[in-house]
Amino acid sequence: MHNRASFFTLKQVLILSVLTISMVAILGTAVLMLYHLERFNSFSQKMNQAEKLSTEMIYFDEVLTKSAKMYAYEGDVVWRERYERYAEKLENTLRQAKKIDPQLKTFLFETASLNNQLIRSEQRAIQLVSEGNSEQAIVLLSTEPYLTYKKNYALQMDKTFAFINQANKALLAEHQDWLLFFVIAVIFQAIVYLMIWLYLLYFLRANHLHLNNLITTDELTGLYNRREFRNALNNGLAQSLTDQKLFLFAVIDIDHFKKYNDLYGHPKGDEALTTLSALLKESRLNKFIKSMSIFRLGGEEFGVIGLTESQEEAKEWFEQLFKKLAALNIVHEANPPYGRVTISVGISFQSPYCLKTASQIYSEADQALYQAKESGRNQVVEYHPEDS
Ligand code: GH3
Ligand code: MG
Ligand code: MG
Repeated sequence: MHNRASFFTLKQVLILSVLTISMVAILGTAVLMLYHLERFNSFSQKMNQAEKLSTEMIYFDEVLTKSAKMYAYEGDVVWRERYERYAEKLENTLRQAKKIDPQLKTFLFETASLNNQLIRSEQRAIQLVSEGNSEQAIVLLSTEPYLTYKKNYALQMDKTFAFINQANKALLAEHQDWLLFFVIAVIFQAIVYLMIWLYLLYFLRANHLHLNNLITTDELTGLYNRREFRNALNNGLAQSLTDQKLFLFAVIDIDHFKKYNDLYGHPKGDEALTTLSALLKESRLNKFIKSMSIFRLGGEEFGVIGLTESQEEAKEWFEQLFKKLAALNIVHEANPPYGRVTISVGISFQSPYCLKTASQIYSEADQALYQAKESGRNQVVEYHPEDS
């Protein structure tokens, strides 16, 4: 049964899989990169905000201390109001800061409790002023334990900045790791793509050569087929004009080949065809006929196209071919009087200035071949216009 070629070969399936995987990998890397950049941006924004709020917290605390002290010294209610306003602001800032980041939140609990110590002392001082004990309030705000609370709060704020710095550094280090990963992934994918690209190029070229071979050559003999023949004939004529050499076209036909098939069987006939083809191929490079191309024109008929200095030289090549074929001595009982496979040849020579068409030249060689057959076969006949 005729076996149809499968749609995809294993190699093609493999290459398609690699392409698909690479595409998914590239998309994956791109998504990962966007996700990472988004995370990096939002986290660094958070840290910037934390830094800003911490600076505010230091400032507000200073304002609170100053306002409480000024109230103690001057007793002006403006300072008390100012104190209350800023106490509220500090409270707000702390609340906002806690919302930024869970880690920062636990850290800020400590800050808040230290701040409460300060606020309690300051409110106690404010109460003392309201009760008329300004002196006591001043003492409260300029001695222990208030001074220690103040120092602790400052230390805690230093720690907050250190914490933010540390987080920023860790973030940057992680970011650099990610960047390195992305660079490696992109380089790796580029290499994979380059390899696939090169392979596809090679594959397309090999396929092209293979198809070209299929189109231009004859399967049984490996010679050029009839399709190639017309192109080659026109090219040969052009070359003859360039090189200023005689152009020749010859038709070679096996004698009584039908009888050979009948007598020895078709497979034997094929064998004789391949033997003759091999002989033609190995005789192609020679000093008598240049730029020679050989074709299987159909059945047991072959074509020779070439350039030569003189008709004698070309005939010399055919003489040698006849001798080589005789030496092979392929038995053919039904081809008397030779008793072996012989060929007949018809040649048409053209000057470099020939204006004839391909079919005219073909017909001339064919007429010469007919004469060779008529005159007893196993010979070369050259076309002469006066003969026709
Ligand atoms: P002539 O000497 O006048 O050329 O006689 P011939 O028998 O060679 O010529 P004819 O054209 O009558 O027969 C050609 C035969 O070639 C017919 C066919 O059996 C044979 N033939 C054509 N192609 C193939 C082929 O591919 N393989 C084989 N084995 N035989 C082929
Ligand atoms: Mg024949
Ligand atoms: Mg024939």
